[in-house]
Amino acid sequence: MRIAGVIERYRAFMPVQDNTRVISLNEGSTPLIQAYKLSAAIHPKLEIWLKYEGLNPTGSFKDRGMTMAITKAVEDGFKVVMCASTGNTSASAAAYAARAGIKCAVLIPEGKIALGKLSQAMVHGAKVIQIKGNFDEALTLVRQICSKYPICLVNSINPFRIEGQKSGAFEIVDAFDGVAPDFQAMPVGNAGNITAYWKGYKEYKAAGKAANLPRMLGFQAAGSAPIVLGHPVAEPMTYATAIRIGNPASWKTAEEARDESNGVIGMVTDHQIKEAYKLLARTEGVFVEPASAASVAGIIKLSQNGFFDNVEPLYGEMIRLVCILTGHGLKDPDSAIAAAEQPATLEPNEEAILEVLGMLEPAFA
Ligand SMILES: *Cc1c(COP(=O)(O)O)cnc(C)c1O
Repeated sequence: MRIAGVIERYRAFMPVQDNTRVISLNEGSTPLIQAYKLSAAIHPKLEIWLKYEGLNPTGSFKDRGMTMAITKAVEDGFKVVMCASTGNTSASAAAYAARAGIKCAVLIPEGKIALGKLSQAMVHGAKVIQIKGNFDEALTLVRQICSKYPICLVNSINPFRIEGQKSGAFEIVDAFDGVAPDFQAMPVGNAGNITAYWKGYKEYKAAGKAANLPRMLGFQAAGSAPIVLGHPVAEPMTYATAIRIGNPASWKTAEEARDESNGVIGMVTDHQIKEAYKLLARTEGVFVEPASAASVAGIIKLSQNGFFDNVEPLYGEMIRLVCILTGHGLKDPDSAIAAAEQPATLEPNEEAILEVLGMLEPAFA
């Protein structure tokens, strides 16, 4: 069976006409994986599921929004799109623009982009421009340029990005036969995704397709936590580069998602993110990029603070929680290599290999 992309699958909820030419790479339909060991390690009452968005066509959830943004850009006659990016938006914009046959320009903070993401934007033929400044400064420039020239801005302040990204919420509710999880946890950077998911859940409930709404849990990195601190951060810092954002464009709607859902936006340290990153890879076999691990780091922190102890599950015995794992681990190979044991280099010799494996004793005799 052919599985279509998110616009075709959720057409009734998407701003398209019957004759709209849809630009898609068959994004979405990502795995929802139950995390048995992680759940048991974090809280006895938690039933954690991992929505592995790294398995989208360009390796992050950005594809859900980009299919919609590029489809509309083409429909509206644009020949050029532009974005500021911590990496994944540019990778996605470059791929979808290539598919549509239009030009793409990306502004990235110099030296702060993970290698995989930079290589994607380059290989798809985007014009890549490094700015001697951070993401927030790059986005300000893109907004100025796109307001004056016939260039379509495809950052998440483009409302069509949010429309496409809300499909993640639809897929989760569909997977649980019309029931939203008790909680949804996710990293928060520019805050477009938390805005999109909350919109998606609300629309699905209004359409009678979801019985309930989840409580939204968002996590920023401690060095880039403007929403938690209540003021912009001039020089955001974190090794989780995808959420290294000091003045989120969708700040207000992220707070609405938090408040309307009785949720939480908290922060986690880089150390906590790294530990969660390794835990996911080693106990569940799921390889994500550092920013994605902020969601797991956040629920570990909440659990340690007793947050889940007195929560009553909506249905059944267990508290169901879906973690949005926003991007693939291969996006950022440097972080992976830095977090892991380095390979041993040996002579081509059986004994030497068995010694390293701790099996030199005749264990199989
Ligand atoms: C873009 C991105 C985020 C942050 O999403 P926002 O919508 O900016 O809050 C988190 N993780 C990854 C991997 C991303 O690419």
